[in-house]
Amino acid sequence: MTGTVFNIQRFSIDDGPGIRTTVFMKGCPMRCTWCHNPEGLEYGPQLMWFDVRCIGARDCLSACPKGALELTGSGMVIDRELCDACGACSEACPAGALEVVGNESTPGEVFDEVARDEAFYRNSSGGMTLSGGEPAMQPGFSSDLLKLCSGAGFHTALDTCGYASPDVLEGLVELADMVLLDLKIIDPLVHMELTGVDLEPVLQNARMISGKGKPLWIRTPVIPGCTDSSDNIAGLSSFICGLPTVERYDLLAFNNTCGAKYRRLDMEWKLDGTPLVTGDKMEELASIAREAGVPNVHWSGATRER
Ligand code: SF4
Ligand code: SF4
Repeated sequence: MTGTVFNIQRFSIDDGPGIRTTVFMKGCPMRCTWCHNPEGLEYGPQLMWFDVRCIGARDCLSACPKGALELTGSGMVIDRELCDACGACSEACPAGALEVVGNESTPGEVFDEVARDEAFYRNSSGGMTLSGGEPAMQPGFSSDLLKLCSGAGFHTALDTCGYASPDVLEGLVELADMVLLDLKIIDPLVHMELTGVDLEPVLQNARMISGKGKPLWIRTPVIPGCTDSSDNIAGLSSFICGLPTVERYDLLAFNNTCGAKYRRLDMEWKLDGTPLVTGDKMEELASIAREAGVPNVHWSGATRER
């Protein structure tokens, strides 16, 4: 049993209580217009080229058994139909300009990495957060990792987008100590347009999760022109007030630094060049949620002054 993990972030303080290690699983059923982790969307490993590191050594070209690389005047062209992310080019590059994102690992291997920070979890009431992408896309791996962490006494959090088979998600929720759930858009048509999936299964899963009685933190990314309207936050707040186990609501300010990751994957990012949200806007939206009765509302992230 292996899973595909694209990042293991140690000393994380934004993904649940205390100091945590966040394990990012590859593969997501949604396609949010603003997604900050494009390297987590596809299930399989992918090759990334870092233009700023490339010294034009060309060792990668001869190392590729598929002939999938071409270094042109405007940069590296990766034939993604041919490339199987074998990593030979990455090993050959003396400058580290090519990297395969997404490692096949066993739950035990990832657990060993997570366990390195056991002392920090104990001292801060932290633990391990399973995130993505969407952990429910790799249910066997996710279950085993949650069991290994719980067996070692580590607090566990499941970070989910909520769009998953209810049975699969329920199984993972039962294994975790708490859940972080993203709720983005309350209008069904806009939700479909900007995330690519139906809203209703997400809302049904939110009710199912809340019915499990575990601590639930809800998170909404505040994205200019997508999720940042007063009506959207008011509508989400009204829904959240109907979930009895919600302990906290986080509004996460738009992060506009991920354009480079899209370019490294030859993907277009529609929000390239979009400015940050203002602090006043974040405060205004947080006030709407508080006035609607949502408990423990916070906002965070980089903002601009005006
Ligand atoms: S749910 Fe999260 S990981 Fe998936 S596309 Fe949306 S923002 Fe990206
Ligand atoms: S990852 Fe493998 S197949 Fe893809 S470009 Fe590099 S060497 Fe070629």
